[in-house]
Amino acid sequence: MSLLPKKVYLSPPHIGDLEVEYVKEAFSTNWVAPLGPHVDAFEREMAEYVGTKGAVALSSGTAALHMALKVLGVGTGDTVFCSTLTFVASANPILYLQALPVFIDSEPGTWNMSPQALERALSESVKTGRLPKAVIVVNLYGQSAEMDPITKLCKAYGIPLIEDAAESLGASYKGRSSGSFGDFGVFSFNGNKIITTSGGGMLVSDDTASLEKVRHWSTQARDPARHYEHSEVGYNYRLSNVLAAIGRGQLQTLEERVASRRQIFEKYKARFGDHPGIKFMPEAPNGRSNRWLTVMTIDPTLCGISAADCVDRLAQDNIEARPVWKPMHLQPLFRGYEYFAHSEQTSVSDDLFANGICLPSGTNMSDDDLERVFSSLDGCLKRAVNL
Ligand SMILES: *Cc1c(COP(=O)(O)O)cnc(C)c1O
Repeated sequence: MSLLPKKVYLSPPHIGDLEVEYVKEAFSTNWVAPLGPHVDAFEREMAEYVGTKGAVALSSGTAALHMALKVLGVGTGDTVFCSTLTFVASANPILYLQALPVFIDSEPGTWNMSPQALERALSESVKTGRLPKAVIVVNLYGQSAEMDPITKLCKAYGIPLIEDAAESLGASYKGRSSGSFGDFGVFSFNGNKIITTSGGGMLVSDDTASLEKVRHWSTQARDPARHYEHSEVGYNYRLSNVLAAIGRGQLQTLEERVASRRQIFEKYKARFGDHPGIKFMPEAPNGRSNRWLTVMTIDPTLCGISAADCVDRLAQDNIEARPVWKPMHLQPLFRGYEYFAHSEQTSVSDDLFANGICLPSGTNMSDDDLERVFSSLDGCLKRAVNL
């Protein structure tokens, strides 16, 4: 029987001493109940970090997306445009509201929403009289989408923009914080994200009146009264005070985390950047990616191994890697919904899904762990060379 070495995870939580102190404080003051001073402080600190007028702490990024769509008035039969290359949570809330998603391809420069596909989809929607109620743009793997052309198009057509920045906290575009470009920005503190509260989310915006509505809906929509009075449907979507305490501690480590994720990326690149058939996710020159995950593409004809087989090979060495997100327009859940590719001839996201691999990028990974990933990868790729 062979003993497997310790598992190397893709992106595990990284908790420090500060978080423990904040949580202790929450316990000792008995602020374990929902809401409380850490929630208020976490909202203020996030809004300040991102540069928006306000923020609402919620139980997940998915809840934040749901509330953003709802406050924009999205309802039954409405159309919502959404990046196709993303985690399913970006698009599920469209279905919660009985609206219809239309998926938009990526462009090669950032792997994020293609402005030219968005433009075609918008002009098509004018012709059919079915303009979208909102556009959801995703900042994949920690890199901002091309916000200038995207916000310009949305403004020209009068469509509100929701920025799904669940993966891009700490990234920037032209010097401004990722998540601050849309009418609403969404963050996630799920366990695998760059900072975590074990589970949680944040909705940020300059539209403080809409944020107040979201705050109301997500605390069961209680009207002001001594008894329990309700005139609208509500949700139990708020973040608890204990989790907000973890978030405050984590937020203070964010810059450090971004620096070490970027360092991890540079190490992979130094080791495999020259390998024929390997390309790393590009970083647009006008921004800073937080490099949440190190992602590369493998050309199977040059490397002799597919990204999928490489994931399996790494798993045999107890190393967690993943394919790039399977695009939403290829998911059985979204069969039959419209899709606009980057150009009539090329679907960029299909290629990224076929050839992309996400590599272990956790900031608490030791040098030895990283060396193990390197040699396991070497094994896959060397075997390929011997073919
Ligand atoms: C993680 C993630 C979400 C969902 O956030 P949760 O907090 O897990 O609900 C949404 N969109 C993207 C792109 C994500 O990566």
